[in-house]
Amino acid sequence: MIHKFDAIVVGAGGAGLRCALELTEQNYNVAVVSKLYPVRSHTGAAQGGIGAALGSEEEDHPEWHMFDTVKGSDYLGDQDAIEILANEAVEAVMELEHFGLPFNRTKEGKIAQRPFGGHTRAFGEAPVKRACYAADRTGHMILHTLFEQCVKNKVRFFNEFYVLDLILKDDVCFGVIAYELATGELHVFQSKVVFLGTGGYGRVFSITSNAHALTGDGMAIAFRRGLPLEDMEFVQFHPTGLRKLGILVSEAARGEGGILRNREDLDNIGTGKDGFMAAVAPTVKDLAPRDMVSRAIYNEIKAGRGIMGTGDTGSDYIYLDLVHLGAKVINEKLPDISHFARKYLAVEPIKEPIPVQPTAHYAMGGLPTDNDGRVLKDAAANPVEGLYAAGEVACVSVHGANRLGTNSLVDIVVFGRRAARDMSRYLKDAEFEEIDADPEAFVAGEIDRLKNGSGNEKVADLRKEMQSVMMSKSGVYRTEENLEEARKTVLELRRRYQQVSVKDSSLYFNTELVEAIELGHLLDVAWTIAESALQRTESRGAHSRVDYPDRDDKQWLKHTFIRKLGDDKVEFDYKPVVITKFQPKPRVY
Ligand SMILES: Cc1cc2nc3c(=O)[nH]c(=O)nc-3n(C[C@H](O)[C@H](O)[C@H](O)COP(=O)(O)OP(=O)(O)OC[C@H]3O[C@@H](n4cnc5c(N)ncnc54)[C@H](O)[C@@H]3O)c2cc1C
Repeated sequence: MIHKFDAIVVGAGGAGLRCALELTEQNYNVAVVSKLYPVRSHTGAAQGGIGAALGSEEEDHPEWHMFDTVKGSDYLGDQDAIEILANEAVEAVMELEHFGLPFNRTKEGKIAQRPFGGHTRAFGEAPVKRACYAADRTGHMILHTLFEQCVKNKVRFFNEFYVLDLILKDDVCFGVIAYELATGELHVFQSKVVFLGTGGYGRVFSITSNAHALTGDGMAIAFRRGLPLEDMEFVQFHPTGLRKLGILVSEAARGEGGILRNREDLDNIGTGKDGFMAAVAPTVKDLAPRDMVSRAIYNEIKAGRGIMGTGDTGSDYIYLDLVHLGAKVINEKLPDISHFARKYLAVEPIKEPIPVQPTAHYAMGGLPTDNDGRVLKDAAANPVEGLYAAGEVACVSVHGANRLGTNSLVDIVVFGRRAARDMSRYLKDAEFEEIDADPEAFVAGEIDRLKNGSGNEKVADLRKEMQSVMMSKSGVYRTEENLEEARKTVLELRRRYQQVSVKDSSLYFNTELVEAIELGHLLDVAWTIAESALQRTESRGAHSRVDYPDRDDKQWLKHTFIRKLGDDKVEFDYKPVVITKFQPKPRVY
């Protein structure tokens, strides 16, 4: 079936919905194509807050926000983009409020704010209250608010449609191909412009805070079509996932005063006394950026001070102590995460500490874009005409080597809106183009191979092997030897993937087929992570090489661009970091 819209927005998370909403303001004919029902998108799982220097609780300035983000990124973030993020965050949050988002309030009725990791006053002096929040359901409120606005503005939704390919002709994008879950039918969405807001890829790893649907589809689809991906080596591990499950315990828990404790510190539970982070980051302590806290936890475990002593990451953990906060703060400001602790670990956070361990959380890398969301086709910053991206699938790059908490929710609304504005400009002169007779042939061939193959490989087996090798060899700490092993294993798994066959032959709701397709995407993404991490012989932000422990600004103050050359070959190129106001310095907190 063929559909025709001025603009196709792929993904109904915060980035996609913010983009679609803006486009309807301009009276364009817009369709949102999403593999999930919109309000099931991962944005809805975001807990802690959205950062903006509103200064409603204490003095704050966008320039402080900019500095913290630059420093948090370990100086790899592009400072022109970060300045836009920090400046436009204020208006973007007020706009969400006007759309009806029920933020928590101060006594005077202003939007309430709380501290978060890496956010400071006066260029690093002390933590500052910058995270605007709606209890620990901030993302849920953002997603529902934006969805309501889109429905009001009559955005057309195609839900449970899986986009599997881009229609590209001479580096110009004219639409997408999607698989309809309910019928098994392939649809051609022809358009003048396409926006990708497909989110991250946390499911590459065995322990992750990410929803099942986060399989890196947007990145893999573009990579297969020969477009580059940027900074894929930078994967954020959030320090506090529920033990073994990876379900997130928001940084808001430490923002409200939670403290990490090792086995030598058990007597201090409930006292509010400093824990081991005080020695690692004397100024901000437990509110250091996530890369530092995750490494500190691994170091404690390695030194035998994990709660269970030394061991592998699956069996070792440390405690997050909220007991001293009291029942009122825990129940009113952190209701969801305390519910998770009770439900999944049978732990009562009012009385006992929560067992936590680092969990794969956020993709700093992705589709390279300029500050208006235009996807770039090379490191020289030439855009692909008619293709835009924002949010976790994209790399603009505001997060550099390490994202600060609360900055992704800002990213999706600020850059989702900016992309839409540039798309409107582009649409003024854009036309529908004749497309090939059979644009879905590539996808149809792939589905046919999976459904009619005779190989014996199983999706679940390959996925498990990939997740386990990526977690243990390409995780918080990395070495050349480990990364080489991850790379080889992933390449071997990609070969074995050719022998996957789907047993379910039905057309309706064939989730086995969808999982097989998603595994193909995950394997491509895992491959780019391992390859890019092998190349970068330094430690910066979330990329921590035991064999190259120092940051090397001389050689590596640049963005990695990886591009597919063949079934097991990639090529690299590099793009300089944009530095405007803040020269790189050692990161001390
Ligand atoms: C548990 C958790 C808590 C978090 N807390 C915070 C926080 O407090 N503050 C903060 O700033 N950030 C937080 N983050 C990060 C932040 O929520 C995400 O980075 C952000 O919401 C991503 O938004 P997005 O619009 O880019 O993608 P998503 O919200 O992930 O949406 C992706 C969309 O793309 C669609 N899609 C994907 N693939 C396809 C395909 N092939 N075809 C069609 N549609 C497709 C999906 O259906 C979905 O609608 C958190 C993340 C997690 C996992």
